[in-house]
Amino acid sequence: MGPTHDVRTVPLPTGEHVPVLGQGTWGWAQDPARRGSEKQSLLLGLDLGMTLVDTAEMYGQGAAEELIGETLAARRDEAFLVTKVLPYNADRVETVNACERSLKRLRTDRIDLYLLHWRGSVPLEETITAFGELLRAGKIRHWGVSNFDPADLRELAGVPGGDAVATNQVLYNPARRGIEYDLLPRCQERGLPVMAYSPVEQGRLLTAPALEAVARRHRVTAAQVALAWVLRRSGVIAIPRAGRPEHVRANHAALTLTLTDDDLATLDAAFPPVRGPVPLEML
Ligand code: NAP
Repeated sequence: MGPTHDVRTVPLPTGEHVPVLGQGTWGWAQDPARRGSEKQSLLLGLDLGMTLVDTAEMYGQGAAEELIGETLAARRDEAFLVTKVLPYNADRVETVNACERSLKRLRTDRIDLYLLHWRGSVPLEETITAFGELLRAGKIRHWGVSNFDPADLRELAGVPGGDAVATNQVLYNPARRGIEYDLLPRCQERGLPVMAYSPVEQGRLLTAPALEAVARRHRVTAAQVALAWVLRRSGVIAIPRAGRPEHVRANHAALTLTLTDDDLATLDAAFPPVRGPVPLEML
């Protein structure tokens, strides 16, 4: 992996470090008018050390992976590529086939982190067996899960090889605090990084008055406050999607924003911490 500049890193359970701030790509490669800006954003993010790039075979039915492959063709080794297999492709045989298709679209010979997108009806044993085969073949370097709640993680721990899980990617932002009650502390104890998706709630948090109030205190934006809030916890990686270079720069700058106790109190008043278990939310 290339340099991560001043971007703080977090260790995966294997000891390999990844940046705490990456780049999401859901919804990319859908609008030809935005394509140039998306590619430019991806490259700028790489320049700034946001080298973890998150995608999925689902996004644009492979089109997002293709855009990444095309954009990073000459800079593949600088990126840490994360992609996901759909649950209905996640059986023993189809996982391998799906991975091969993703490799081709991404124009690479290995995926750095391969995730099960969400829990489906295929027994976990089958998916984990396929992930093990892909690891041994060098086609993936790590595997993980997404949208797994504490019960799913417990079940995974009981599957042979299940302890090799490298991350759980879940919804986390000020308006979605359920994971703080049990899932996040459990992952932190185990040294399992949590990858926070939709950190600005797909844009819906950009006009939240409490975020705007804190943003005014620091002369930053609501998006930057949301990112700093997500990243205040150890063992958390945020993967905002920014299809405009100015948003990529802003997100990178959020790494230097430290929220005060007053800021956190303002945000707690608007987005109260949970007091008990909450079913894991998904977008
Ligand atoms: P998000 O990152 O919360 O929000 C994306 C929106 O925020 C875009 O409209 C973007 O605008 C805007 N934005 C980003 N940075 C900004 C800034 N600094 N100032 C103002 N606006 C800003 O939503 P998301 O795409 O749902 O989540 C992020 C990534 O997580 C996805 O792209 C995907 O890779 C992953 N994800 C995974 C799952 C899963 O099930 N595992 C589910 C959802 C998402 P522009 O594009 O115009 O810059």
